[in-house]
Amino acid sequence: MTLEIVQIPVLNDNYVYLAREPASGAVGVVDPAVHEPVLAELQRRGWNLTHILNTHHHPDHVGGNLKLKEATGCQIVGPKADAGRIPGIDVALADGERWKLGEEEAVIFDVPGHTSGHIAFWFEQSAALFCGDTLFALGCGRLFEGTPAQMWQSLSKLLKLPDHTRVYCAHEYTESNARFAVTVEPGNEALQKRYAAIRAARAKGQPTVPSLLGEEKATNPFLRPMSGNLRETLGLTDADDVAVFAETRRRKDTFRG
Ligand code: ZN
Ligand code: FE
Repeated sequence: MTLEIVQIPVLNDNYVYLAREPASGAVGVVDPAVHEPVLAELQRRGWNLTHILNTHHHPDHVGGNLKLKEATGCQIVGPKADAGRIPGIDVALADGERWKLGEEEAVIFDVPGHTSGHIAFWFEQSAALFCGDTLFALGCGRLFEGTPAQMWQSLSKLLKLPDHTRVYCAHEYTESNARFAVTVEPGNEALQKRYAAIRAARAKGQPTVPSLLGEEKATNPFLRPMSGNLRETLGLTDADDVAVFAETRRRKDTFRG
């Protein structure tokens, strides 16, 4: 049996996720920015919260931690490398460790770059990746506390996962990411098609998350420093992947479109 996953849009553009493991009834909430909408959704479904899964310390990911713990007695799981900045943390996880939500196991990846301690949860059986602010649909997190080399190494870990993996990222940034992506890899036909689909979905108010890792591999410029067309656009034909990634990130930081 695979996880039952519920997407809760909160604040301006955050996504919080509930994940229920059906065999045990265990329920996790991923990166609860706030507590009220989470408690309301739990109540509507008659689910009991057992765990909070935090990817990193930013307030729009841990803001609901203490209120949810107080209301439900749940356990809080987060990055070992940043345990001191995760409110109420009970279980600290590091790269390569396995952790179970009820009966389903997650593999933990350390994915620093956006923050110095950031983890991703990969539930292989459910083909679900909770990656916080590391990988977005057509984008990646800003480098607040890490270097381009670190972030590229983090994204490279995620690139090894299967194409059918669903990417449950924490923000609806896809349309503005797409606007940028087409400027750096204009010759990518799959990207142009995806951009059109994203615009249509957003015009109808539909979410563009989760996406499939396979489509990210084919269209997300932050996963494609090897692309000849991207390299040409950036004028970095002979540079190494880290340099191409770094320049892509730098251009996105100042992109106005
Ligand atoms: Zn963040
Ligand atoms: Fe965030």
